Amino acid sequence: MVHAIKAGRLIDGCGGDPIEAAVMLVEGKTIHAVGSATHIKIPEGAEITDASEKTLMPGLIDTHVHIMSTSASLEQNLFTPKAVSYFQAAKNLKRTLRAGFTTVRDAGGADAGIRQALEMGLISGPRLVVSGCIGQTGGLMELRFPSGAQIINEDTWRVCDGVEGVRKTVRKVLRRGVDFVKIFATGGVVAPQGSPFTAEWSPDELAVIIEEAHRCGAGVMAHAEGNAGIKNALRAGVTSIEHGNVLDQEAIDLFLAKGIFLVPTLHITRILSEKGDTAGLSAVSKRKEERLAKEGQGCFRRACEAGVKVALGTDAFIADMHGSNAAELSLMMDMGGLSTMEAIIAGTRNAAECCLLGDEVGTLEAGKLADFLLVDGDPLTDITVLQAPERITVYKEGLLVQ
Ligand SMILES: [Zn+2]
Repeated sequence: MVHAIKAGRLIDGCGGDPIEAAVMLVEGKTIHAVGSATHIKIPEGAEITDASEKTLMPGLIDTHVHIMSTSASLEQNLFTPKAVSYFQAAKNLKRTLRAGFTTVRDAGGADAGIRQALEMGLISGPRLVVSGCIGQTGGLMELRFPSGAQIINEDTWRVCDGVEGVRKTVRKVLRRGVDFVKIFATGGVVAPQGSPFTAEWSPDELAVIIEEAHRCGAGVMAHAEGNAGIKNALRAGVTSIEHGNVLDQEAIDLFLAKGIFLVPTLHITRILSEKGDTAGLSAVSKRKEERLAKEGQGCFRRACEAGVKVALGTDAFIADMHGSNAAELSLMMDMGGLSTMEAIIAGTRNAAECCLLGDEVGTLEAGKLADFLLVDGDPLTDITVLQAPERITVYKEGLLVQ
């Protein structure tokens, strides 16, 4: 049975002008045809959804979430049993899908089992791309405290060093069926030790991570905040740079030359700078955050103006962020100077390509999966309509999300 959607306006995610009075034909999970109502004939007997007052657009994609996490507080995370975090993840996934996000990439925490539970229909949520984390001795993922105590959780991350040590560990991560290897090319804010301005991994170690990931068809996403580590990861050829706070011209040129995605995670940066204490950050972390904000001022805007490819990513790991992912769209416009259409592309086509799913989702084109939204309003004149789940009807693989 063909499902025909008549829409007042179509934003197909390919970047062209919107089409007024459009039709999309869906057969099963897949888009059969889409375009102007004058060109597309609705077959007899088709089930018709009249959305002639609404905007039809691709489902949104968040390339950086932590679906298992609901708090920045280390203590709270340490005292949460694994089973509880799975149930929390189910709740977070449901809220995220209802908010119009039909695909998300998890940047650490979720495993391939959650992806399988979603595919089996045991839980409701977006299509899930999962990653496995590795870090180096003395790096962000070592989680070693001034007391000498260290947190080790090999379910979620592993520490390794040297070309052969790294090779073996990447293979161990990949055998768990992840889609991406998540690495830390600089220190970070939340960890007790290290600095976002310190580069991690040698060029040889980075090269072997990428070699092993690519051999298995996996991507590499690099947490990188300071300039030196960002450039190392760009030179090595990662798929995306996460955060990318401090960028000089050389870094911007490398982004452009290599076609690598920048995932700016502005939403978490905004939350941490506005309410760092309540988000559970320590005083040490807060100081690191402040320095990063100061040195990174204007960098995202310069990257956007130069034409660096941007993909939407929020770094949602605090409870309220799951389901308010679309706040990132307005932030990318405010802080990067992106147009409304450019922000939407960052959250659809670019984000799909960044997840290595560009052939399947991200745009409304014949042959792609029917992940789409019917929006009560025009996101091109007011992007904030996408922040109101009650104004969005969500379809994933052709099926209405209840
Ligand atoms: Zn993250």
